Amino acid sequence: MTKTRKPLQKYRRVVIKIGSALLVDRKSGLKKAWLDAMCADIAALKAKGVEVLVVSSGAIALGRTVLDLPAGALKLEESQAAAAVGQIALARAWSESLSTDQIIAGQVLLTLGDTEERRRYLNARATINQLLKLGAVPIINENDTVATTEIRYGDNDRLAARVATMVGADLLVLLSDIDGLYTAPPHLDPDARFLDTIAEITPEIEAMAGGAASELSRGGMRTKIDAGKIATTAGCAMIIASGKPDHPLNAIECGARSSWFAPAGSPVTARKTWIAGQLLPAGTLIIDAGAETALRSGKSLLPAGVRQVTGSFSRGDTIAILGAAGREIARGLAGYDADEARQIAGKKSAEIAEILGYAGRAAMVHRDDLVMTGPAGARVDDGRDERKGEVHA
Ligand code: GLU
Repeated sequence: MTKTRKPLQKYRRVVIKIGSALLVDRKSGLKKAWLDAMCADIAALKAKGVEVLVVSSGAIALGRTVLDLPAGALKLEESQAAAAVGQIALARAWSESLSTDQIIAGQVLLTLGDTEERRRYLNARATINQLLKLGAVPIINENDTVATTEIRYGDNDRLAARVATMVGADLLVLLSDIDGLYTAPPHLDPDARFLDTIAEITPEIEAMAGGAASELSRGGMRTKIDAGKIATTAGCAMIIASGKPDHPLNAIECGARSSWFAPAGSPVTARKTWIAGQLLPAGTLIIDAGAETALRSGKSLLPAGVRQVTGSFSRGDTIAILGAAGREIARGLAGYDADEARQIAGKKSAEIAEILGYAGRAAMVHRDDLVMTGPAGARVDDGRDERKGEVHA
């Protein structure tokens, strides 16, 4: 795991969060030239083999401009309506702009439960992974039209961090009007020092985050540090950079000032540690010797190798996997509910659709959701081939 900066093109999966103020001018609306330049940067990164996801703010800001709503705070239903109008225009703008570089955009609107509830998390992740596999760029935002004050991320900094951890990204780039982290708010304190590298988010670092947010966006440095904690804990590096110049990604590559937050560990081990660390598995799967060998070589657990299912669990719950000798050898997130798992245990993946009445996933537990826990089982996984053949995430 590198603890030093590397060029953007050396990352494999990058989430770029774009703040509202970069994309939307309160008077004239969408900043098309900026967007086109941004898309050219994305195309350049993709051409180097980097998978790119965008978390784009701007729906509410754009909608309120289109609707000519007065300045100042909006009521909930006003911001929901503004988002409805703005999101459609925002998505179209991304789609059109990316298409000039022959890139296909896919819109993904998330609500809080889509990343916080494991079943929905698996579902959202599968969709996003599929988009990436097809070479498209997911354009993600909160579904502000239905999100209420109680049930929402509220800011796209943390949403972007949740997305980054969900898809196992190795870099999150937060672009806004702030070029990085300072020891104190630079406009208030002439002695404020810029921090180029943040090895760890300590309480001191947290204390440096003021509350400042501009009128157009909800996030300030506070939410950026929160995002940094989410991302880096899961092994994803983070950059805070100014998005103000045209071609902001290129500007970072050319040495424009930005703050780099070091990842805490590799995304794979961090996530798998989380799975392994679940206190009470909701059920167990007893598997045969062939499946055990397959698991030990890093493969997914297919229904065919499952002999017995115990407990009552839902898709996404953590379950223990026992070998033929009855010992726990692994833990993972269930790809199916317990009753479904019972019905397809011992069956070939091709038979799933007929048994369940819908085309489910081929794996009972996908290898990305699986960690070896038993004796002699702890496989060191550097995550290099983690996403190869990720058909059934
Ligand atoms: N989801 C909001 C929007 O698209 C932006 C939230 C934020 O600024 O962080 O308008």
